[in-house]
Amino acid sequence: MSLGEFELIKQYFQQQSGAPGVALGIGDDCALLTVPLGQQLAVSMDTSIADVHFPADGEPDLIAERALRVNISDLAAMGAEPLWFTLGLTLPDADPQWLQAFSQGLFRVAREYGIALVGGDTTRGKLSITIQVHGAVAEGKALLRSRASEGDQIFVTGPVGDGAAALAVMKQQLSAASMMTDYLMERYYRPQPQVVAGQLLTNFCAAAIDISDGLVADLGHICEQSGVGADLHLERIPLSEAVRQLVSFEQGIDWALSGGDDYQLCFTVPKAQVQQLETLVSTGKIVAHHIGEITAGNGVSCWHNSNPVVPSGKGFQHFGGQEALS
Ligand code: ADP
Ligand code: MG
Repeated sequence: MSLGEFELIKQYFQQQSGAPGVALGIGDDCALLTVPLGQQLAVSMDTSIADVHFPADGEPDLIAERALRVNISDLAAMGAEPLWFTLGLTLPDADPQWLQAFSQGLFRVAREYGIALVGGDTTRGKLSITIQVHGAVAEGKALLRSRASEGDQIFVTGPVGDGAAALAVMKQQLSAASMMTDYLMERYYRPQPQVVAGQLLTNFCAAAIDISDGLVADLGHICEQSGVGADLHLERIPLSEAVRQLVSFEQGIDWALSGGDDYQLCFTVPKAQVQQLETLVSTGKIVAHHIGEITAGNGVSCWHNSNPVVPSGKGFQHFGGQEALS
Protein backbone atom coordinates (compact mmCIF):
# COMPACT_ATOMS: atom_id res chain seq x y z
CA MET A 1 0.00 0.00 0.00
CA SER A 2 1.05 3.64 0.26
CA LEU A 3 3.97 4.94 2.27
CA GLY A 4 1.56 5.63 5.09
CA GLU A 5 0.93 1.92 5.58
CA PHE A 6 3.55 1.38 8.26
CA GLU A 7 2.46 4.48 10.14
CA LEU A 8 -1.14 3.33 9.91
CA ILE A 9 -0.34 -0.12 11.27
CA LYS A 10 1.80 1.31 14.02
CA GLN A 11 -0.77 3.86 15.06
CA TYR A 12 -3.92 1.78 14.97
CA PHE A 13 -3.01 -1.87 15.17
CA GLN A 14 0.31 -2.35 16.94
CA GLN A 15 -0.31 -2.76 20.64
CA GLN A 16 2.08 -3.66 23.42
CA SER A 17 3.42 -7.18 23.26
CA GLY A 18 3.23 -9.65 26.11
CA ALA A 19 0.21 -11.70 25.06
CA PRO A 20 0.41 -15.43 25.92
CA GLY A 21 2.34 -17.50 23.39
CA VAL A 22 3.37 -14.52 21.25
CA ALA A 23 7.15 -14.79 20.88
CA LEU A 24 7.05 -12.14 18.13
CA GLY A 25 4.02 -10.04 17.14
CA ILE A 26 3.37 -7.36 14.52
CA GLY A 27 6.39 -5.86 12.76
CA ASP A 28 8.41 -8.63 11.16
CA ASP A 29 7.64 -10.78 8.12
CA CYS A 30 5.84 -13.30 10.29
CA ALA A 31 4.59 -13.56 13.83
CA LEU A 32 6.11 -16.35 15.95
CA LEU A 33 3.60 -18.18 18.11
CA THR A 34 4.00 -20.97 20.64
CA VAL A 35 1.14 -23.46 20.82
CA PRO A 36 0.63 -24.74 24.39
CA LEU A 37 1.96 -28.27 24.93
CA GLY A 38 -0.53 -31.07 24.27
CA GLN A 39 -2.95 -28.71 22.49
CA GLN A 40 -4.03 -28.52 18.89
CA LEU A 41 -4.23 -25.27 16.95
CA ALA A 42 -7.78 -24.46 15.79
CA VAL A 43 -7.77 -22.07 12.81
CA SER A 44 -10.67 -20.37 11.07
CA MET A 45 -11.23 -17.40 8.75
CA ASP A 46 -14.20 -15.24 7.82
CA THR A 47 -14.47 -12.32 5.44
CA SER A 48 -16.97 -9.49 5.83
CA ILE A 49 -17.59 -7.28 2.79
CA ALA A 50 -19.20 -3.85 2.93
CA ASP A 51 -22.83 -3.88 1.81
CA VAL A 52 -22.83 -7.67 1.70
CA HIS A 53 -22.19 -8.60 5.32
CA PHE A 54 -22.62 -5.18 6.94
CA PRO A 55 -23.77 -1.73 5.82
CA ALA A 56 -20.73 0.24 4.50
CA ASP A 57 -21.83 3.30 6.44
CA GLY A 58 -22.25 1.38 9.70
CA GLU A 59 -20.46 2.50 12.85
CA PRO A 60 -16.80 1.49 12.34
CA ASP A 61 -16.34 0.23 15.90
CA LEU A 62 -19.40 -2.01 15.54
CA ILE A 63 -18.23 -3.29 12.14
CA ALA A 64 -14.95 -4.29 13.80
CA GLU A 65 -16.71 -5.84 16.79
CA ARG A 66 -18.99 -7.93 14.63
CA ALA A 67 -16.17 -9.12 12.34
CA LEU A 68 -14.07 -10.33 15.26
CA ARG A 69 -16.95 -11.75 17.31
CA VAL A 70 -18.21 -13.82 14.38
CA ASN A 71 -14.75 -15.32 13.96
CA ILE A 72 -14.37 -16.08 17.67
CA SER A 73 -17.70 -17.89 17.48
CA ASP A 74 -16.07 -20.51 15.25
CA LEU A 75 -13.47 -21.14 17.94
CA ALA A 76 -16.28 -21.45 20.50
CA ALA A 77 -18.00 -24.03 18.30
CA MET A 78 -14.86 -26.20 18.42
CA GLY A 79 -14.43 -25.77 22.17
CA ALA A 80 -11.17 -23.89 21.60
CA GLU A 81 -9.67 -21.15 23.73
CA PRO A 82 -9.14 -17.95 21.67
CA LEU A 83 -5.45 -16.98 21.46
CA TRP A 84 -4.43 -14.95 18.41
CA PHE A 85 -5.83 -13.37 15.27
CA THR A 86 -4.65 -11.73 12.06
CA LEU A 87 -6.44 -8.97 10.18
CA GLY A 88 -6.64 -8.48 6.41
CA LEU A 89 -8.01 -4.99 5.98
CA THR A 90 -8.97 -3.49 2.61
CA LEU A 91 -9.84 0.20 2.78
CA PRO A 92 -11.04 2.69 0.15
CA ASP A 93 -8.97 5.35 1.93
CA ALA A 94 -7.11 5.81 5.19
CA ASP A 95 -9.63 7.93 7.13
CA PRO A 96 -8.06 8.51 10.57
CA GLN A 97 -11.40 8.95 12.31
CA TRP A 98 -12.77 5.73 10.85
CA LEU A 99 -9.56 3.83 11.66
CA GLN A 100 -9.49 5.15 15.23
CA ALA A 101 -13.05 3.97 15.89
CA PHE A 102 -12.49 0.67 14.06
CA SER A 103 -9.39 -0.18 16.06
CA GLN A 104 -11.10 0.79 19.32
CA GLY A 105 -13.96 -1.60 18.60
CA LEU A 106 -11.54 -4.32 17.55
CA PHE A 107 -9.40 -4.12 20.69
CA ARG A 108 -12.45 -3.87 22.91
CA VAL A 109 -13.46 -7.35 21.75
CA ALA A 110 -9.86 -8.57 21.72
CA ARG A 111 -9.51 -7.67 25.41
CA GLU A 112 -12.88 -9.17 26.30
CA TYR A 113 -11.94 -12.55 24.84
CA GLY A 114 -8.20 -12.47 25.54
CA ILE A 115 -7.23 -12.76 21.88
CA ALA A 116 -4.17 -10.90 20.54
CA LEU A 117 -3.70 -9.29 17.11
CA VAL A 118 -0.42 -10.69 15.79
CA GLY A 119 -0.31 -9.59 12.16
CA GLY A 120 -2.21 -8.86 9.00
CA ASP A 121 -2.20 -7.13 5.67
CA THR A 122 -3.46 -3.71 4.63
CA THR A 123 -4.58 -2.90 1.09
CA ARG A 124 -6.60 -0.32 -0.79
CA GLY A 125 -9.96 -1.20 -2.36
CA LYS A 126 -13.60 -1.67 -1.46
CA LEU A 127 -13.99 -1.95 2.31
CA SER A 128 -13.61 -5.55 3.45
CA ILE A 129 -12.38 -7.22 6.59
CA THR A 130 -10.84 -10.67 6.74
CA ILE A 131 -10.00 -12.10 10.11
CA GLN A 132 -8.24 -15.35 10.84
CA VAL A 133 -8.51 -16.60 14.38
CA HIS A 134 -6.29 -19.11 16.13
CA GLY A 135 -7.24 -20.99 19.25
CA ALA A 136 -6.07 -23.94 21.30
CA VAL A 137 -7.91 -27.08 22.28
CA ALA A 138 -6.60 -30.15 24.10
CA GLU A 139 -5.60 -32.85 21.66
CA GLY A 140 -8.59 -34.97 20.57
CA LYS A 141 -11.05 -32.86 22.59
CA ALA A 142 -12.38 -30.51 19.88
CA LEU A 143 -16.14 -30.45 19.30
CA LEU A 144 -16.76 -31.85 15.83
CA ARG A 145 -19.85 -31.75 13.61
CA SER A 146 -19.32 -35.43 12.89
CA ARG A 147 -19.70 -36.84 16.40
CA ALA A 148 -23.48 -37.01 16.87
CA SER A 149 -25.16 -40.39 17.26
CA GLU A 150 -28.68 -41.76 17.60
CA GLY A 151 -30.20 -40.99 21.00
CA ASP A 152 -28.10 -37.86 21.66
CA GLN A 153 -30.13 -34.97 23.02
CA ILE A 154 -29.99 -31.63 21.18
CA PHE A 155 -29.55 -28.26 22.92
CA VAL A 156 -29.02 -24.58 22.10
CA THR A 157 -27.22 -22.09 24.35
CA GLY A 158 -29.75 -19.26 24.01
CA PRO A 159 -32.43 -17.53 21.95
CA VAL A 160 -32.33 -17.92 18.19
CA GLY A 161 -33.99 -15.69 15.59
CA ASP A 162 -32.63 -12.37 16.86
CA GLY A 163 -30.17 -12.02 13.97
CA ALA A 164 -32.95 -12.24 11.38
CA ALA A 165 -35.20 -9.96 13.43
CA ALA A 166 -32.41 -7.35 13.53
CA LEU A 167 -32.02 -7.57 9.75
CA ALA A 168 -35.77 -7.08 9.29
CA VAL A 169 -35.60 -3.95 11.44
CA MET A 170 -32.55 -2.69 9.53
CA LYS A 171 -34.28 -3.26 6.20
CA GLN A 172 -37.27 -1.40 7.64
CA GLN A 173 -39.56 -4.37 7.10
CA LEU A 174 -40.45 -4.09 10.73
CA SER A 175 -40.76 -1.15 13.06
CA ALA A 176 -40.05 -1.66 16.71
CA ALA A 177 -39.96 0.41 19.87
CA SER A 178 -36.50 1.83 20.43
CA MET A 179 -35.82 -0.47 23.37
CA MET A 180 -36.29 -3.54 21.20
CA THR A 181 -34.40 -2.00 18.30
CA ASP A 182 -31.50 -1.35 20.68
CA TYR A 183 -31.61 -4.95 21.91
CA LEU A 184 -31.71 -6.36 18.36
CA MET A 185 -28.94 -4.08 17.05
CA GLU A 186 -26.84 -5.12 20.02
CA ARG A 187 -27.47 -8.79 19.21
CA TYR A 188 -26.61 -8.23 15.55
CA TYR A 189 -23.44 -6.16 15.90
CA ARG A 190 -22.24 -7.59 19.18
CA PRO A 191 -23.12 -11.29 19.15
CA GLN A 192 -21.74 -13.13 22.17
CA PRO A 193 -19.57 -16.03 21.02
CA GLN A 194 -20.19 -18.90 23.43
CA VAL A 195 -16.56 -19.46 24.30
CA VAL A 196 -17.03 -20.52 27.92
CA ALA A 197 -19.85 -22.91 27.00
CA GLY A 198 -17.79 -24.39 24.16
CA GLN A 199 -14.84 -25.09 26.43
CA LEU A 200 -17.04 -26.66 29.13
CA LEU A 201 -18.71 -28.84 26.52
CA THR A 202 -15.42 -30.47 25.48
CA ASN A 203 -15.78 -32.62 28.60
CA PHE A 204 -18.92 -34.47 27.50
CA CYS A 205 -20.63 -33.03 24.44
CA ALA A 206 -20.78 -35.11 21.27
CA ALA A 207 -21.17 -32.65 18.38
CA ALA A 208 -21.46 -28.88 18.13
CA ILE A 209 -21.86 -26.05 15.62
CA ASP A 210 -22.42 -22.31 15.90
CA ILE A 211 -25.64 -21.03 14.38
CA SER A 212 -24.77 -18.69 11.54
CA ASP A 213 -27.21 -19.89 8.87
CA GLY A 214 -30.27 -20.87 10.93
CA LEU A 215 -31.07 -23.92 13.04
CA VAL A 216 -32.28 -26.16 10.21
CA ALA A 217 -29.22 -25.56 8.03
CA ASP A 218 -26.70 -25.75 10.86
CA LEU A 219 -28.20 -28.74 12.67
CA GLY A 220 -28.46 -30.19 9.15
CA HIS A 221 -24.66 -29.99 8.88
CA ILE A 222 -24.32 -32.03 12.07
CA CYS A 223 -26.78 -34.61 10.68
CA GLU A 224 -25.01 -34.84 7.35
CA GLN A 225 -21.52 -35.14 8.76
CA SER A 226 -22.58 -37.59 11.47
CA GLY A 227 -24.81 -39.70 9.18
CA VAL A 228 -27.85 -39.24 11.43
CA GLY A 229 -31.21 -37.43 11.55
CA ALA A 230 -32.70 -34.99 14.07
CA ASP A 231 -36.14 -34.37 15.56
CA LEU A 232 -36.61 -30.72 16.41
CA HIS A 233 -39.49 -29.65 18.70
CA LEU A 234 -40.44 -26.15 17.60
CA GLU A 235 -42.37 -25.23 20.76
CA ARG A 236 -39.17 -25.72 22.76
CA ILE A 237 -37.01 -23.38 20.69
CA PRO A 238 -36.12 -20.33 22.80
CA LEU A 239 -37.14 -16.98 21.27
CA SER A 240 -36.12 -13.69 22.85
CA GLU A 241 -38.71 -11.50 24.47
CA ALA A 242 -38.15 -8.93 21.71
CA VAL A 243 -39.01 -11.44 18.99
CA ARG A 244 -42.01 -12.78 20.93
CA GLN A 245 -43.39 -9.29 21.38
CA LEU A 246 -42.68 -8.09 17.85
CA VAL A 247 -44.02 -10.91 15.70
CA SER A 248 -46.14 -14.06 15.71
CA PHE A 249 -44.79 -17.36 17.02
CA GLU A 250 -44.72 -18.64 13.42
CA GLN A 251 -42.60 -15.71 12.23
CA GLY A 252 -40.26 -16.03 15.22
CA ILE A 253 -39.79 -19.74 14.58
CA ASP A 254 -39.26 -19.03 10.89
CA TRP A 255 -36.40 -16.68 11.80
CA ALA A 256 -34.98 -19.19 14.29
CA LEU A 257 -35.04 -22.00 11.73
CA SER A 258 -33.79 -20.20 8.65
CA GLY A 259 -32.60 -16.73 9.65
CA GLY A 260 -29.08 -17.15 10.94
CA ASP A 261 -26.61 -14.63 12.42
CA ASP A 262 -27.41 -15.81 15.94
CA TYR A 263 -24.05 -17.30 17.01
CA GLN A 264 -25.52 -19.49 19.70
CA LEU A 265 -24.15 -23.04 19.86
CA CYS A 266 -26.30 -25.98 18.86
CA PHE A 267 -24.87 -29.16 20.40
CA THR A 268 -25.69 -32.77 21.12
CA VAL A 269 -25.07 -34.70 24.32
CA PRO A 270 -25.22 -38.50 24.70
CA LYS A 271 -28.06 -39.53 27.02
CA ALA A 272 -25.65 -40.84 29.64
CA GLN A 273 -24.03 -37.40 29.91
CA VAL A 274 -27.16 -35.24 30.06
CA GLN A 275 -27.04 -35.31 33.87
CA GLN A 276 -23.59 -33.69 33.73
CA LEU A 277 -24.96 -30.93 31.53
CA GLU A 278 -27.92 -30.42 33.86
CA THR A 279 -25.55 -29.92 36.78
CA LEU A 280 -23.75 -27.19 34.85
CA VAL A 281 -27.10 -25.59 33.99
CA SER A 282 -28.41 -25.67 37.55
CA THR A 283 -25.20 -24.14 38.91
CA GLY A 284 -25.45 -21.33 36.35
CA LYS A 285 -22.24 -22.28 34.52
CA ILE A 286 -23.96 -22.79 31.18
CA VAL A 287 -27.29 -22.02 29.52
CA ALA A 288 -28.85 -24.90 27.58
CA HIS A 289 -32.35 -25.34 26.14
CA HIS A 290 -33.35 -28.87 25.23
CA ILE A 291 -34.86 -28.71 21.73
CA GLY A 292 -34.74 -32.22 20.28
CA GLU A 293 -32.96 -35.51 19.79
CA ILE A 294 -30.76 -37.25 17.25
CA THR A 295 -32.42 -40.11 15.34
CA ALA A 296 -31.35 -42.90 13.05
CA GLY A 297 -32.95 -41.11 10.08
CA ASN A 298 -31.46 -38.35 7.99
CA GLY A 299 -32.02 -34.63 7.84
CA VAL A 300 -33.90 -32.42 10.29
CA SER A 301 -37.55 -33.28 11.01
CA CYS A 302 -39.67 -30.62 12.68
CA TRP A 303 -42.49 -31.21 15.16
CA HIS A 304 -44.95 -28.84 16.78
CA ASN A 305 -46.70 -30.17 19.88
CA SER A 306 -45.99 -33.70 18.60
CA ASN A 307 -47.41 -33.00 15.12
CA PRO A 308 -45.03 -33.23 12.20
CA VAL A 309 -44.64 -30.00 10.22
CA VAL A 310 -42.84 -29.44 6.97
CA PRO A 311 -40.29 -26.69 6.52
CA SER A 312 -41.02 -24.85 3.29
CA GLY A 313 -37.34 -24.17 2.67
CA LYS A 314 -37.93 -20.57 3.63
CA GLY A 315 -39.04 -21.55 7.11
CA PHE A 316 -42.58 -22.15 8.25
CA GLN A 317 -44.95 -19.92 6.35
CA HIS A 318 -47.15 -22.98 5.98
CA PHE A 319 -46.85 -23.65 9.63
CA GLY A 320 -50.07 -24.74 11.34
CA GLY A 321 -52.77 -27.37 11.64
CA GLN A 322 -53.97 -28.03 8.10
CA GLU A 323 -50.44 -28.15 6.73
CA ALA A 324 -49.28 -30.76 9.22
CA LEU A 325 -48.56 -34.17 7.79
CA SER A 326 -50.51 -36.10 10.37
P1 ADP B 1 5.18 -7.74 4.30
O1 ADP B 1 5.39 -6.75 3.17
O2 ADP B 1 6.40 -8.40 4.77
O3 ADP B 1 4.04 -8.68 4.05
P2 ADP B 1 3.60 -5.76 5.57
O4 ADP B 1 4.17 -4.45 5.19
O5 ADP B 1 2.38 -6.22 4.87
O6 ADP B 1 4.76 -6.84 5.55
O7 ADP B 1 3.27 -5.74 7.12
C1 ADP B 1 4.25 -5.36 8.07
C2 ADP B 1 3.86 -5.89 9.41
O8 ADP B 1 2.60 -5.34 9.80
C3 ADP B 1 3.66 -7.40 9.44
O9 ADP B 1 4.06 -7.88 10.69
C4 ADP B 1 2.17 -7.58 9.28
O10 ADP B 1 1.73 -8.79 9.85
C5 ADP B 1 1.64 -6.35 10.01
N1 ADP B 1 0.35 -5.87 9.47
C6 ADP B 1 0.05 -5.40 8.24
N2 ADP B 1 -1.24 -5.01 8.15
C7 ADP B 1 -1.80 -5.26 9.34
C8 ADP B 1 -3.10 -5.12 9.89
N3 ADP B 1 -4.12 -4.64 9.17
N4 ADP B 1 -3.29 -5.49 11.17
C9 ADP B 1 -2.28 -6.00 11.90
N5 ADP B 1 -1.04 -6.17 11.47
C10 ADP B 1 -0.78 -5.80 10.20
MG1 MG C 1 2.05 -8.01 3.65
